[in-house]
Amino acid sequence: MMKAEIIAVGSELLTPDRLDTNSLFLTEELNKLGVEILRKTIVGDDRELLSKAFRDALNRVPLIISSGGLGPTEDDLTRETVADLLGRRLKLNEAILDAIKARFRSFNRQMPDINVRQAMVPEGAEALNNTRGTAPGLWIEDGGHMIALLPGPPRELKPMFLEEVLRRVARSVSTVRMFHRELRVTGLGESAVDQRIQPVYKRFTDVNTTVLASPGEIQIHLRMWTDDAKLAQKHFAEIEQGFELALTDRIFSRDGSSLEEVVARLLTLNGATISAAESCTGGLLAQRLTSIAGSSSYFLGGVVCYSNEMKTAWADVPKELIEAKGAVSPEVAVALAEGIRRHVGSTLGVGITGIAGPGGGSEEKPVGTVHIAVASGGETKARAVRFMGDRDMIRLQASQLALDLVRVHFLYNGSAKRG
Ligand code: AMP
Ligand code: MG
Repeated sequence: MMKAEIIAVGSELLTPDRLDTNSLFLTEELNKLGVEILRKTIVGDDRELLSKAFRDALNRVPLIISSGGLGPTEDDLTRETVADLLGRRLKLNEAILDAIKARFRSFNRQMPDINVRQAMVPEGAEALNNTRGTAPGLWIEDGGHMIALLPGPPRELKPMFLEEVLRRVARSVSTVRMFHRELRVTGLGESAVDQRIQPVYKRFTDVNTTVLASPGEIQIHLRMWTDDAKLAQKHFAEIEQGFELALTDRIFSRDGSSLEEVVARLLTLNGATISAAESCTGGLLAQRLTSIAGSSSYFLGGVVCYSNEMKTAWADVPKELIEAKGAVSPEVAVALAEGIRRHVGSTLGVGITGIAGPGGGSEEKPVGTVHIAVASGGETKARAVRFMGDRDMIRLQASQLALDLVRVHFLYNGSAKRG
C-alpha cells in the first residue's frame, strides 16, 4: 500500500479561527485510491519550519500533498521553499503568466506585479491547471518521490486534486514500494565517509542516500521508491561497487549485521578460535564476542588484566617490559595478545591497553591513547590510536577497532566471506 503525508501550510491554520479541512478531503480521496496517510503536518508560514516539514516527509514517504502557501504575497512560501529544498531553480513560465493576466483581464482588472510569483515553476515541475483561481498547482517528481503542491482555498484545491492529481497518483499506486540497503563502515569519520561516497551517490538521483553516525561506526542507508525491483537491485549494485572503490575495506557489513556478528561469522567460517587480554576495555571485547548465540564455538576465554601484576600473572607479559615501556605501549599490547593466545591455545589472541580517562593521561600518552594487537602465530599486528570522546566512547571505540582488526586479519588471511 502506498504511503503518503499531507502538509497543510498557513499560519492561519494555527489560530482558533481556521480549521484545516483540506486534509480531510485529501485523505478521503487518497484512501479511495488505496493510499494510506501516515501523518499530517500543519505548519505556519515559516521558511525553515516548512523546509523541515518537507525534508522529514521526504525521508518517510513517496507521496507528499501540500495545501496552501501558493498565493502571490510575501507570506506564501511553499513554491520557493520546496524548489530550494530540492535544489531546483525557479523559472518564469510565460504561458502561466499569460493565463493569469487573462484571468485578471476577464474581471476588467490589470494583474498586480506580485502575481508574477505565481507563474514561477521549479525546473522539471509540471504546472497543475487552476480553473478557479490564479495560482497553478505544481507536480514534482524527485528521487522516486511525488510531490503535489496545491493552493489553500478549498474551492480551488478540490477540483485541482480531482482533475489533475488523482490520475498522476493512480499511475504509481500499489506497485511502487521502497527498496532499502544498509552498509556499515568503521575506521572513518562521518564527513570523511560522506566526502568519499558523494561523487557516487550524487549520480543516482532516484536513490535516497543517508549517512548516519554512531560511536565507532557509520551507517549508509540507500532507499529507492520504485515498482521496478530489477532497477533497484541494479542501482544498489552499482552504488555499492562505487562505494567499495571509495571506501576500500572499510565496509564491514552489507546486510545490517553488527561488527561482532561479522567477526563471529568469519571466525566460524575459518574454524578459528579467539581469546582476549583486556585492560582499558574491562572485558567489553569479550562481552561483545560472547553476545552472539553460538559464541562458545570460537571464543575460548579471556582476562581483564587491569593491574600490571595481573598482566604478568595472567597474560605472561614480562615485568621488565612493563617497567621499560609502560603498561600503555605497543610492546605491552603485543605481549598481551601473544601471551593470552599462548596461554589459552586459541588461533587468535587480542591484547588491548590504553587510557580511557578522564584521568591518567599525560602529555606523552594523552587520554584516548589505545594500543591494540592481534596475534595469530605469524607476525603480530599492532595498532596505536588516539580516540576522542568520553570514557564510554573511548572504550567502545577500542573494542570496535579490536573487532575490526580481527575482521581485517581474515580479509587478508583466510576465507573472508563478504558481510
Ligand atoms: P493560500 O494558498 O496559503 O494563500 O491559502 C489561502 C486560503 O485558503 C487561506 O486563507 C484559507 O482560508 C484557505 N486554506 C488554506 N489552507 C487550508 C486548509 N488546510 N483547509 C481549509 N482551508 C484552507
Ligand atoms: Mg497562505
